[in-house]
Parts: sequence; structure tokens; C-alpha cells
Amino acid sequence: MRKKIAVGVLGATGVVGQNYVRLLANHPWFEIKDMAASFRSAGKRYEEATSGKWLMDSGIPEILKNVVVRDVLDYENIPEEIQLFFSATELQDKEATREFEFAYAKKGYPVISNSSANRWTRDVPMVVPEINAAHLEILKIQQRKRALPASGFVAVKPNCSVQSYLVAIHALREAGYPVKEILVNTLQALSGAGYRGLTSPEMQATVSPMIPGEEEKTEKEPTKILGRLVNSEIVPDTSIIMSALCTRVPVIDGHTALVYLNFADRVPTLEQITRIWSEFKAEPQSLNLPFAPHPAIIVRNENDRPQVKLDVDNGNGMAITIGRLEKDKFFHIRFVALSHNTIRGAAGGAILTAELLVEKGYIKPG
Ligand code: NAP
Repeated sequence: MRKKIAVGVLGATGVVGQNYVRLLANHPWFEIKDMAASFRSAGKRYEEATSGKWLMDSGIPEILKNVVVRDVLDYENIPEEIQLFFSATELQDKEATREFEFAYAKKGYPVISNSSANRWTRDVPMVVPEINAAHLEILKIQQRKRALPASGFVAVKPNCSVQSYLVAIHALREAGYPVKEILVNTLQALSGAGYRGLTSPEMQATVSPMIPGEEEKTEKEPTKILGRLVNSEIVPDTSIIMSALCTRVPVIDGHTALVYLNFADRVPTLEQITRIWSEFKAEPQSLNLPFAPHPAIIVRNENDRPQVKLDVDNGNGMAITIGRLEKDKFFHIRFVALSHNTIRGAAGGAILTAELLVEKGYIKPG
């Protein structure tokens, strides 16, 4: 049995941070040994810092209740044993967040971030482990260019909603059916807006027809994720044209996407698509990583699936569930896809990325 890697969670008191606490409670490789948040929480015991705002169904693990929360900017008191940080926090602005993540990398820590701040930083990979594990190669260039210690780097997760359908589109491309145009309408859960989303009365029992900044991210991030690493750069794939309309719906967890797409040339049959998705496997599955879902994509044939209530926790919240695969009048096909936004789309996805980084030797257990 390998010795567990001591990890820290930055933003440990928020919705994504609480999900790290919950998901890492019994992780076979990682163990939380440090929790940090804003100055508001710093100096408090974790149980006290999350009092009245603990949102998980399970309680706080006993072993973490009395851990004293560190200020994320207090670099002096990082416990010596920490070997990896998961970051689920934003500072006052994107620039400050970008620098803060690299400040940890400069101290020799691998940082896997949920923030959007570094997603477009040229030498930072935006990772969906089933799609672009090859982009991790750029970390060597990041370390060299920035003169980081051999153990330090920043890798990021993409926006939470793209994960509901991008793995499915990647699977089709891999099978020889590249996609040309995608129209996507997202129905995004309240937890995607963090603590405020889950607790603001004005966001309950309504549909918010706009999520600021979300459509731009949804249309742009897939180009980098599906891009190719050429020489020392990730070259975005601009061959896919995307149009996104993103809404917030009164659902606790689970981002649903209504997807319409046109293929670039060959059009597979619905049976072929079902087979491609059902049989899809990538590195996380073949390496049998602890958080890899088996299967990665679940295809349902019933007309009333996927449904948040029935399907959001499929594959322990890491699987993508797809249904309503049909021909469309204006596009070649349409389908409905669902993933768990705070698990697959945030903490769980980052944990899977960390597992891949360990397996590929980028994070070396000390
Ligand atoms: P949240 O519930 O609002 O939690 C924010 C966390 O950041 C808290 O721990 C908070 O600490 C800390 N924080 C806030 N302002 C800070 C500051 N100025 N300096 C230091 N720490 C600060 O937000 P969340 O939903 O967990 O999201 C966290 C990050 O993940 C965001 O970048 C978000 O865009 C991203 N993300 C979220 C989701 C999702 O589904 N929710 C999915 C993907 C990505 P205090 O408690 O001490 O204030």
C-alpha cells in the first residue's frame, strides 16, 4: 500500500472546498492535512469556520473538525508535509488569483485549480483527464520557462458545464466522426454559483436566463481542451463552431446540457453513436484510477432520462449520463447530457486529474 500524499485545500470552506473534504475522506492515495480560506475563516477551527454553512449531506470528518484554517495568503504556516494543493478559491480579481496560484507553484507545490483565472494562461493545461492527458506535457515547459522548482506547477480544470458533453464529443472525434457545429443550452444547478447560489432566496424557484460570463467560457474552453500540443504550445482547435445559451435552474447539483450538433463530414447512425459512447475508454479507465468512472459515459434509452434526481450520482458523480439521442430537423443529431457539477465538474474532476498526475510521475509521493 502506498503512503498517502498529504494535500491542502485552498478555499476549503466553500461549496467546492467542502466537496474536497467529503470526497477525500476515504481516498486511497490522498489525505487532507491543511485547509485554508479567506481572512474571515483564518484562525478558526474548520468546524467553527463552516458553522451554519456546511452544505454536504455527510458530516465533517472527525479528523478535520479541529484543524485550524490557515489564511490562503499565509505562506509561512504551510505544514511541511504538504505535497499537493487543490485550489477552490478566487481572490479579489483574476490577476491576483493567477499570481496566487503561481506563488504556490514557485514554492514547489503542484496546484490543481478550479478557478477560471489561469485557464487561458498559455503554459497551463486545462485538463479533462479522458480527453487531453497529453497536454500535461506542457507542465515541463511551464516549469522551465518560469524557473519553477521541479515539483511545482499549475494545472486547471475547465468550466463545470462543458464536462456534461465534451467527453462525448471527443469520443465521436476519436472514432472518426469529427464535429463541425454545436449548439448547446445548459440548465445549470444552484451549487454551480457557490455558497451564494445555494442560499440566496432570489435564486430559488426560478430560472435565471443568464449566467454572467458563462456563455463565453462555454464557447471558448472546448477549443483549448480539444487543441493539440505542438512544439511548446497548446494550439486551440478552432474547427468547431459553438453557440451556447446558459441558464441557472432551481436544481441543487447537476448541470444538464441540451446539445445539438452537426458532423464535419461522415454522419454516424444513432446505433453507432450509442456504441461509441458506451464503449468509450480513456487513460483514467485503462489506468484504473480510483476516481475514474466505469463506464465514463452511460447511455440511457428511456425518454425520461437522464434526470438529475436519478442520474446525477452515477459513477459516484463522475460519470456522464446521456439520453434522448435523436435525429433533429436542423442538426444531424441532438441529445441531453448530465454531469455532477461539483463532483465531475469541480472537486472530483480535479482529484481525477491529480491521480493522473501521480500515475504519470508529475506528482511524486515523497
Ligand atoms: P464559494 O462557495 O463561494 O467558496 C469560496 C471559497 O473561497 C471560500 O472558502 C472562501 O473563504 C474563499 N474566498 C473567498 N474570497 C476570498 C478571498 N478574497 N481570499 C481568499 N479566499 C477567499 O465558491 P465555490 O463554488 O466553492 O467556488 C470556488 C471556485 O471554484 C471558484 O473559482 C469557482 O468559479 C470554481 N468552480 C465552482 C464550481 C461549482 O460547481 N461550484 C465548479 C467549477 C469551478 P471564506 O469562507 O473564508 O469566505
